[in-house]
This record gives sequence, structure tokens and C-alpha cells, in this order.
Amino acid sequence: MASFRTLDDLGDVSGKVALVRVDLNLPMQDGHVTDVTRVKASAPTILELAGKGAKVLLLAHFGRPKGERHSTMSLSLVQGAVEDVLGHEVMFIPEVAGEVAAQAIGILRPGDIGMLENTRFWKGEEKNDPDFAKSIAANADFYVNDAFSAAHRAHATTEGLAHLLPAYAGRAMQAELEALDKALGAPEKPVAAVVGGAKVSTKLAVLEHLVGQVDHLIIGGGMANTFLAARGIDVGKSLCEHELAEVAEKIMDAADRSGCTVHLPYDVVVAKEFAPNPPSMRTCNVHEVGADEMILDVGPQAVEALADVLKTCRTLVWNGPMGAFETEPFDAATVALARTAAALTKEGSLVSVAGGGDTVSALNHAGVAKDFTYISTAGGAFLEWMEGRELPGVAALMR
Ligand code: ADP
Ligand code: MG
Repeated sequence: MASFRTLDDLGDVSGKVALVRVDLNLPMQDGHVTDVTRVKASAPTILELAGKGAKVLLLAHFGRPKGERHSTMSLSLVQGAVEDVLGHEVMFIPEVAGEVAAQAIGILRPGDIGMLENTRFWKGEEKNDPDFAKSIAANADFYVNDAFSAAHRAHATTEGLAHLLPAYAGRAMQAELEALDKALGAPEKPVAAVVGGAKVSTKLAVLEHLVGQVDHLIIGGGMANTFLAARGIDVGKSLCEHELAEVAEKIMDAADRSGCTVHLPYDVVVAKEFAPNPPSMRTCNVHEVGADEMILDVGPQAVEALADVLKTCRTLVWNGPMGAFETEPFDAATVALARTAAALTKEGSLVSVAGGGDTVSALNHAGVAKDFTYISTAGGAFLEWMEGRELPGVAALMR
């Protein structure tokens, strides 16, 4: 991996002003923060800098205010939650630049932490306006990006600032980049990818990129139906994008050419209605799906065969559940395969990296998230990375 600067490259930061881009886009309900995972992720970076005597200024976006101030999207709403996680006072500054911000920053002492207002209150943020970025940079000495989840956007505070100030990856960013590099950058072979979820159309670029990168492509979830249909199998009422048959064939051809084995389920769990434990549920061969049935999970024989594939692999990258895991018992294949991957990781034979909103919930549901080598909560940025795209916020940190 091309190398990037980290906090280890910082000299003496005592008394210096650090702009630290973090992810404070926290879920809220009735005015209360409901999940502080993102704050916890960046706490080590923030506290390390404050501990070294820097004056730390948190920079983040919150919601989609589209360039205007909205009191319902002020970062002041998360100030208390951030203070609780950090165990440290945080001074809220209702600007990101200009006189008022400069004055407020001027009264910070070494080791103090301030939080600037929602960067998306200003149009220059999403436009990556250099003048906007310069006005923020004017009050600081260096820039740290600890928000991988926003690194797929070339915005003023995720990309622009890195060109105006000495720029470093924070600890969470560093951990994410190192884990992702182990999984797809310079992985130990053989490499397996599990791609599941609802639709092929949302993950076309992921599939197209992976067939050239991995040794085994395991396709599950609703998207497997599209591949099965492309192979002439009748998938009944299953969720299926029939119009993508040709695209699916092209992906399978590309896999053939690059020596990637595509694994599709050969047994499946089907039902006539989508409900918990429906009476019509049964397991059958993919060739036996009735016209009035839909495929809701990968079958147990296929899961066993896939577990054997994982046993031969050294690296696994996973996005997308194998079935409609939110509804029992269509979580069975996802849970079983996740447990196999977790056990192999614990034994030390597999590096396992997973990401995606529903994937993270599914792995938590299986009770194995802590046993994976790395779980990315970065959503869009994780998927773009799986597509092999260069993330502007990451590229800007490269030496
Ligand atoms: P992620 O958020 O991890 O990227 P996706 O959003 O692509 O994953 O897909 C998750 C969704 O796919 C889940 O809501 C799950 O119920 C659905 N799904 C998986 N398998 C099937 C299936 N066979 N039929 C219908 N929906 C499915
Ligand atoms: Mg999803």
C-alpha cells in the first residue's frame, strides 16, 4: 500500500491547533443520541492529540442541511454525548471559520477540545470550495482525518483541507486502511469474497471488480437469484432482476477468464409467503423451486460446501447477507457461514474483513462481530473501496 502519514509522524504538537475530521453523524431519536459507536471510534485519536497538548478542533457534518443553518442539525445537539464518551469537556463553537471562530479558538489552552459547527451549514463544504477550506485552515496548524466513512466524498473538510495543511490519518482511519489493505490490497491468498444482499443492481461495480481480485466469489442473498436465473434456472416468485441476466453472464465469463470460481447455491430455502417460520417453508434443490415459491435463504448443503471453501482460504472479504436474515429462520445460512468465518479467524487461519449496513447487523445478530479481524461500519465508503475506487479523502493523505 502506498503509505500515508499517521500521528506517529507528528513532531511536538504542544500548543498547536489540530483540525480533526471525525464522523459525528450520530443517529438521534427524540432529541437524544441513540448510538455513540462513531464517537468511540475516534476517541483514541482525539484524546491522544489532546494528551500531547494540542488544541483539538473537531470537524464533522451532521445530516443534510444543504448549505444552510438548521437548528435541528446543529452539532451542539451531540456535544453532551461526545463529552460523555471522551470523558472530557468539549467547547462548542457555532462557526467553522471567521472572526468568531478565531476568537473562540484563541481562548483554548493546550489539551482543550473544541467542536466546530456542522460543516454542511456552508455550501463550500460539499462543493469542496478552496476559499471555504482556506478560511477553516487559517485558524489551524495541521489536519487529521479520522473519518474513513466520509472519505469517498471530496468535500472541503474531507479532502480540500489535506492540501492546505500538513495532513495525517487518525488512529481509526489508520486501522481501517490497514485492515482493508490486508483484505484486498495485498492479501494472503487464496482470497474469498462473499457478496450477498438484496440486489445485483446495487453492487454491480463490486462484483465486476472482485472477479478480477479474488479466487472464490461466493454469491448469496437475493442477488444469487439473478445469477441462477441467468443460468436458466426458474426462480419462481423470488426477488430477481431478470433484466440483468446478460450482465450476470458477463460477470461469470470475466470470472472464468481470471481464474475466479463463482459459487452459487445449489440448495435453497423457499416459502410461498414471506413471514417468520411460514408453514409453506421447505428446503430444495435450486432446480425444484415452484412457480409460487420464493428463495429466502441459501440451503444447508451449500453452506457446508461454502464452509469448506473458506477452510482453504487465507483471506475473506464479506459484504451482504446470504438470506433475508431479519426474518427467522432465513438467517440460518448467514449465521452459519459467519460462525465458520469467525472460528477460522480465531484459529488464525483466516483474515476476515466485513462491511455494509445490513452485514454489520447480521454479524452482530450471529454474535461473531468481535471475532472478525475487522468490521467496517463505513457504509458507502466501504462499498466504494470494494469497487476498487480511489477514495479522495484517503488519496489526499498519501505521501
Ligand atoms: P448491506 O447493507 O450489508 O450492503 P444489502 O442492503 O445489499 O446489504 O442487502 C441486505 C438485504 O438483503 C437484507 O434486508 C436482506 O433481507 C435482503 N435479502 C437477502 N437475501 C434475500 C432474498 N433471498 N430475498 C429477498 N431479500 C433478501
Ligand atoms: Mg443495506
